[in-house]
Amino acid sequence: MRILLVGAGLSGAVIGRTLAQAGHDCHVIDSRDHAGGNCHTERDAATGVMMHVYGPHIFHTDDAEVWDYVNRFADFLPFQNRVKTTSRGAVYSLPVNLLTINQFFRRTLRPDEARAFLECQADTSIADPQNFEEQALRFVGPDLYEAFFKGYTEKQWGCDPRNLPASILRRLPVRFNYDDNYFFHRFQGMPREGYTAMIRAILDHPGIATDLNTPYDPAMAGQYDHVFWSGPLDGFFGYRLGRLGYRTLDFERFDYDGDYQGCAVMNYGDREVPYTRITEHKHFSPWETHERSVCYREFSRAAGPDDIPYYPIRLVREKALLEDYVRLAQATPGVTFVGRLGTYRYLDMDVTIREALDTGRDFLARAAQGRSPAAFVHAPL
Ligand SMILES: Cc1cc2nc3c(=O)[nH]c(=O)nc-3n(C[C@H](O)[C@H](O)[C@H](O)COP(=O)(O)OP(=O)(O)OC[C@H]3O[C@@H](n4cnc5c(N)ncnc54)[C@H](O)[C@@H]3O)c2cc1C
Repeated sequence: MRILLVGAGLSGAVIGRTLAQAGHDCHVIDSRDHAGGNCHTERDAATGVMMHVYGPHIFHTDDAEVWDYVNRFADFLPFQNRVKTTSRGAVYSLPVNLLTINQFFRRTLRPDEARAFLECQADTSIADPQNFEEQALRFVGPDLYEAFFKGYTEKQWGCDPRNLPASILRRLPVRFNYDDNYFFHRFQGMPREGYTAMIRAILDHPGIATDLNTPYDPAMAGQYDHVFWSGPLDGFFGYRLGRLGYRTLDFERFDYDGDYQGCAVMNYGDREVPYTRITEHKHFSPWETHERSVCYREFSRAAGPDDIPYYPIRLVREKALLEDYVRLAQATPGVTFVGRLGTYRYLDMDVTIREALDTGRDFLARAAQGRSPAAFVHAPL
């Protein structure tokens, strides 16, 4: 079959590869001038630093098949994300752990003592937290909430944390040990030559043709047996029912001679600091040496029509509109909606790859049985 895949990010590349290996003729297009989607990395011409152009990306997974898959296409080096945060003029370790608690309260608590101490801080009158703020107050109390969660969340989501669902915050967002590895997953690493090189290698197959600088035109669909769409779900339909809400990010670049902050990611928890974090890109490649450094200050705001959509908002209004778009998509033959934009969900890279592998296999299985492809292999709702 002739297959069109819209988007040369992880979703388009992995589905394209799966289908090309099964003998199908795949055409991947992207409106941008590079492959890699939002995981795109490129070397900065002035400094040689590997840049995470659309924000910091750290690969982490428990999925052994996905880990084997990425290691076929890139040389992964060990990398653990150790984030710090600046709050009220002091630097603390994140995620909130025993070191953070002891620094913040100027104590020398052991794990059991810290657990008991935090129980006294917590607002136990909140039996059933109804929103983000109540969830935080219930589990960490007002001091840690104000310092580490409130201001950051307000900046990130642009709203009062009382208007966000409790589910955004894990049940107990604190560790009672000194583990400051941001992720729990068994496999964690960084591709030596960046994500775009890895995604180009996935696309490098005789059954795949890739065209960049090529936006989708609805007239293209007629030339193919099937389309996989990893662009915005509402965008496929020309936003005819309205726009699904997203947060977008602005990155303000500055250069520095030497080491600016000593770590890859420094969060800023105070409401008065307008940015959420500073990323210093060279620390994502600790095996490289660069005298000069490039940093991004990261600002979050509501996405306008011409902005890059980053984080789906998925509050009540968006979910109602999403339901309408899902119904429309299910009534549209010849297209499968995939990936973070096509299904309007936040997806880590490993989940994106897992879903893309499943989607490719589902398509092949249905084709073998003479069944039509699904509109969604992974439901957005
Ligand atoms: C700020 C940020 C940080 C992140 N950090 C991490 C992390 O640390 N670890 C992790 O595992 N994951 C992280 N992620 C998630 C990761 O970015 C996604 O898993 C991944 O990008 C999803 O790939 P995708 O192919 O589905 O979508 P995308 O990467 O968005 O690719 C979609 C592509 O479709 C193209 N496209 C859209 N519309 C059209 C059109 N009309 N015509 C042609 N092309 C079109 C776009 O240009 C884009 O290249 C992060 C995400 C964000 C937003």
